[in-house]
Amino acid sequence: MNALDLWIQETHQNAVALRFKVEKTLFSAKSPFQQVDVVQTAAHGGMLLNDGIIMVSERDEYIYHEMIAHVPVSVHPSPKRVLVIGGGDGGTVRELVKHRQVERIVMVEIDEMVINACRQHLPSISCALDDPRVELIIDDGVKYVASTGESFDIVLIDSTDPIGPAAPLFDRQFYENVAGLLSEQGIMISQAESPFYDFKIQSAMLENQRPFFKRLHLYTFTNLTYPGGLWSFGFGSKALCPLMDFDPDRMSAESVHTRYYSPDIHIASFMLPKFVKDNLSGVLDPLPPVSQLKTP
Ligand code: SAM
Repeated sequence: MNALDLWIQETHQNAVALRFKVEKTLFSAKSPFQQVDVVQTAAHGGMLLNDGIIMVSERDEYIYHEMIAHVPVSVHPSPKRVLVIGGGDGGTVRELVKHRQVERIVMVEIDEMVINACRQHLPSISCALDDPRVELIIDDGVKYVASTGESFDIVLIDSTDPIGPAAPLFDRQFYENVAGLLSEQGIMISQAESPFYDFKIQSAMLENQRPFFKRLHLYTFTNLTYPGGLWSFGFGSKALCPLMDFDPDRMSAESVHTRYYSPDIHIASFMLPKFVKDNLSGVLDPLPPVSQLKTP
């Protein structure tokens, strides 16, 4: 008998689809928040899906996680306290702990099942969750930012798409609360969807952030398992410019090893395709010309 030809398919806006050949299911259960699946794929290794939407795959997750973590850490002059909202797979925390300067990481994930499934089946991603600098809180990030008295230098919103419990993570009130707990030179990075397919969500998200940040920017990166391949993060800061305040020597000074992020990529990621720049011209702040930058 021939082996079954099994594929998973993620559809986007009921119009495009991404397909991956599956070798076996490693975990499948329903939590109070979502369906959680971990599958072994033929081309991308282990893959986490929440409600059938691809979160991470072992083959390319380093790109997303290096870009969410190292960009703000290389801009903030003293990134000691970091808050991660969501991020249950642990990849963002794994990148943050590479920095000696980071003293405390609080990760607030609403769904313990995601953390446990990734600890068990995706250890290359979840491997730093037990670092002594990390505090894990199982709670709603919206509730946490509204009630914590703690202040942070960097807040990373490592969330799913704006559906279900993640929907309020894209609201104005949430961003106001995040800005309220950021220190004087604080930076917020937010998962900002596809500049190509999700322009409406992206522009609404940035409009909601705009009143609370002196500087607001967008940067892009490649993601092989998200629709369209081009993906983005928002960069909001109370004071710092992602290029003028960028320290190109930070990574080498701390001997941080990466596979995608580099000082060149840092600068290049803020150079937006013209259609993105045109779409967001009224929302984002201008950047200095490259000739004025401290280049690596
Ligand atoms: N890289 C991923 C992406 O963009 O698809 C994000 C990965 S991470 C697994 C996203 C996590 O956010 C999920 O595990 C989900 O449970 C969590 N999440 C969703 N809404 C949340 C909320 N309100 N508070 C805390 N965590 C939340």
